[in-house]
Amino acid sequence: MKILVAEDNLADRLIIRRHLQSMKHEVILAQDGQEAIEQFKKEDPELVLLDVRMPGMDGFATIEKMRSLDLEWRPILFLSSHTEPETFVAGIKAGGDDYLYKPINRDVLEAKLIAMERIVAMRKQLITVTAELAWETEKAQQMANMDGLTGLANRRYMNQILAQEIKRAARERQPISVIMVDIDYFKHYNDHFGHLAGDDVLRKVAKLLQGSVNRAADLVSRFGGEEFCIVLPNTSSQGGAEIAEELRKTVLDERIPHAEGLEQSWLTISLGVSCKIPESDTLVDDVLDMADKALYQAKASGRNRVYTVMGCGSEEAT
Ligand code: GH3
Ligand code: MG
Ligand code: MG
Ligand code: MG
Repeated sequence: MKILVAEDNLADRLIIRRHLQSMKHEVILAQDGQEAIEQFKKEDPELVLLDVRMPGMDGFATIEKMRSLDLEWRPILFLSSHTEPETFVAGIKAGGDDYLYKPINRDVLEAKLIAMERIVAMRKQLITVTAELAWETEKAQQMANMDGLTGLANRRYMNQILAQEIKRAARERQPISVIMVDIDYFKHYNDHFGHLAGDDVLRKVAKLLQGSVNRAADLVSRFGGEEFCIVLPNTSSQGGAEIAEELRKTVLDERIPHAEGLEQSWLTISLGVSCKIPESDTLVDDVLDMADKALYQAKASGRNRVYTVMGCGSEEAT
């Protein structure tokens, strides 16, 4: 260990150094409190042995200063020839971790250093475990919000975000658009190419959707099966409809071969767009229902298209 020894008495200083060096420790010496603080900052010792009585700044004032520096905790042991309980108690209260009485006994010194090393090791372990736990907790949190197949946000998380966004939009009197996306004739795709190929397509479509929305607040989620839901805060019906049309084209332009015997050779999606300036009591399901009904209209009117429910109540297909 790298050990700082602050001791004004030369003979004591040298004896302690000899003991510590015989135990293979690295020793830094200081003659008074002021020098001890300077060495403490400069050398960053792993442990400090601090004399209580020193000229100028005594051990109690020195430890107070050391503990107030925003450095990592390390053991600080007082050295004193005063064995009365008051001094001992004052030292511990001032931030000391233990006491060594002078004249220093080599074996006692060694034993106390071993005990302190044990505490340092446990503290390090605790810090590591705490950091690992925080990381695991964050990872678990992310996993809980994520759809396993596509890596998109899952429905649960989307619901949570949409509820927050509805509240915010209501406060700020801002529109919120929701796009419900459904792959066309996906059952045929699975039947024709198999379920694993179907999974690949879900991942591909997820990536295309995710790559086509730009704003940080936009959220693309897997709603379930081959349906996706996109939440677009501060977005008008027109803005939502434009993005939906962009998404429709992006998927079509991938030219993903679809099953034979369908009206189009490529995989396509249908999209329903709803837009609303919500009230404070607007429910998530109100907004999702609107988008779902719009999606139904897009399907009913031929698929591979966008159907938009305008926020003001008027409707238009694009
Ligand atoms: P429509 O154009 O009306 O949407 O027809 P569709 O065939 O896409 O709709 P339908 O609801 O009849 O079928 C959806 C299909 O999506 C059925 C199901 O096997 C498939 N599907 C749902 N989840 C998954 C999944 O995780 N992986 C795969 N490969 N397929 C899935
Ligand atoms: Mg002294
Ligand atoms: Mg569906
Ligand atoms: Mg479908």
